[in-house]
Amino acid sequence: MLFVKNNDNTQRLALPAQPRQFEMFIDGQWTRGAALKQVTRSSPAHQVPVSVYQSGTLDDVEQAVAAARRAFDHGPWAKSGGAYRAGVLLRTAELIRQHSEALALCETLETGKPISQSRGEVLGAADIWEYAAGQARALHGDAFNNLGDSLLGLVTREPVGVVGLITPWNFPFFILAERLPFILASGCTVVAKPSELTSGTTLMLAELMQEAGLPQGVLNVLTGSGSLLGQAISEHAEIDMVSFTGSTEVGRLTMAAAAGNMKKLGLELGGKNPQVVFADADLDAAADAIVFGICFNAGQCCVSGSRLLVERSVEQALTEKVCALIGKVRIGEPLEEGTQVGSITEARHLERVLGYIEQGRREGARVVCGGQRIESATGMYLQPTVFADVTPQMVIAREEIFGPVLTITAFDDFEHAMALANDTPFGLAASIWSRDLQTALQAMRQIKAGRVWVNTTIAGGPELPSGGFKQSGIGRETGRYGVEEYTELKSVHVQMGARTPWVNA
Ligand code: NAP
Ligand code: MG
Repeated sequence: MLFVKNNDNTQRLALPAQPRQFEMFIDGQWTRGAALKQVTRSSPAHQVPVSVYQSGTLDDVEQAVAAARRAFDHGPWAKSGGAYRAGVLLRTAELIRQHSEALALCETLETGKPISQSRGEVLGAADIWEYAAGQARALHGDAFNNLGDSLLGLVTREPVGVVGLITPWNFPFFILAERLPFILASGCTVVAKPSELTSGTTLMLAELMQEAGLPQGVLNVLTGSGSLLGQAISEHAEIDMVSFTGSTEVGRLTMAAAAGNMKKLGLELGGKNPQVVFADADLDAAADAIVFGICFNAGQCCVSGSRLLVERSVEQALTEKVCALIGKVRIGEPLEEGTQVGSITEARHLERVLGYIEQGRREGARVVCGGQRIESATGMYLQPTVFADVTPQMVIAREEIFGPVLTITAFDDFEHAMALANDTPFGLAASIWSRDLQTALQAMRQIKAGRVWVNTTIAGGPELPSGGFKQSGIGRETGRYGVEEYTELKSVHVQMGARTPWVNA
């Protein structure tokens, strides 16, 4: 690993002299709401204050829900045609492109991720908004013309109503793009609660949507404590659906809270995703993807390939290739153009990841590379860490670490590989490496995961759905499914001509 220092002699963006002051966005107005306190967010890589947020209250939740309710029940959004909604989404995408540099900078300052990556995520998000605009027009139901002469069957889709949208800190703007434009495309209205660590780009987006002509109350953004506001949103009787992305632990709380009024639920939760490498695979290609899969976003990625399962005959060779490549990853100052991995996003999370590395050592796994924090005056940088001799019972092989930590476990044959791959409560994603079509396709079928990559990893755009099996979640985001998720189905039987009487039969 190569450390990129912040005094390196290259071109770098400047830190803000003053933190940016944000208000909440409720019913088309910028407001402090009932907040009595503000929260300051400092850049995790620099420990410099970058954003100040209102600490929203339960009263603000009430205001936001009432606004979203009015906008859904009485406003033009749900009632208008898909073409109108598509227009607003397309104008938003255009504004995201126009303001991409400011959005990317805010994202990097709040998350600690490299600026080049933030730029990619912001432009990738604009692309998703454009895709979702098309879905606003493509959304449709079904018809049954095969029920006999006197009956016609229709299945219509209706927006589900007011959606509570709770998003995490690892990909604040990108994850928002995988959900919000699809929710809006369906005709729903929204009360959004971004993570209090990274609310900036969600609020900037609300400003862009206002400029794009979004009617009042259709999108509301609250900031502040997740346990207070997120819990209140999940419980609220006037909210019809909650879309939650985050940890499995908090997802369980959301699910319990949603039981009150039987809300519809979309959950995208944690993963412990296998990289399954068979002996016949292209080991160089696999090694590069394994390093990407564990280092990308400093491992703070729900689909990161954190469990390497490798056929015993190539275990040694692949381990060496992985460690050699890790040695070349550029880690450090996120404002430098060439940096590939930035800071861990939060001090508490850094401690958690370091705790797992300690646990791995105690459990008897062998550190083959990394294992330490990287010295830095301000940033929270971690050496990508690889553990060999990991048994499937070890905590580091079972729990989601959400950091740049890879475990290696060897398998003896195909059945053993599949048993290990599925020996987890999670089912978010998996990658399979083999040159043999039969092996790859059989593995693809047998692994229980919502997303499978064959001879690649963390690839693809908004066309295909994403989501998890087992405790990795409920429902799907993006693709056609991503807009249908936010609709209710209504089945309609239309009698054509006289109905056979019941009383005077
Ligand atoms: P988290 O603690 O579960 O938080 C996720 C969101 O929920 C945040 O907006 C948080 O707000 C809010 N929240 C906190 N307590 C809540 C409650 N009682 N009720 C409702 N909402 C509440 O997760 P995180 O620490 O932000 O992110 C890391 C975890 O998210 C990882 O474990 C990872 O697996 C998972 N994740 C999954 C995906 C996926 O697509 N499957 C994507 C990203 C992350 P505050 O931050 O303001 O407290
Ligand atoms: Mg949290």
